[in-house]
Amino acid sequence: MTLDKDQKTTKNTTDADKASAGGHAQAPTTGKAPRVARIEVDRDLCIGAESCVLVAPDAFKMDGERKAVVKETWRSLNDDTILTAAKACPTAAIFLYDEDGNQVYP
Ligand code: SF4
Repeated sequence: MTLDKDQKTTKNTTDADKASAGGHAQAPTTGKAPRVARIEVDRDLCIGAESCVLVAPDAFKMDGERKAVVKETWRSLNDDTILTAAKACPTAAIFLYDEDGNQVYP
């Protein structure tokens, strides 16, 4: 009985595998939502996409210049909703701060 066992190491991942890994995927941080105490919209970054309004109409509205502004009623929402709305912004124009003034998103 002969064992024709090849002791070579296993091959690495293919070039195609490596090429397909080009997308930079960050794990969402939901589950441990920050305690949001302040919301700011950077008007220079806002392109008026309205994603934030669609996600959280009680927190954001569009003004006459097609820029998002924060509504007073945002405090009635939970942090997960606020964070989801901020993450929905295509230009990351929504900045969230905790009660100590630390930026918690983005
Ligand atoms: S999602 Fe972002 S770009 Fe769109 S309106 Fe809201 S803040 Fe502006």
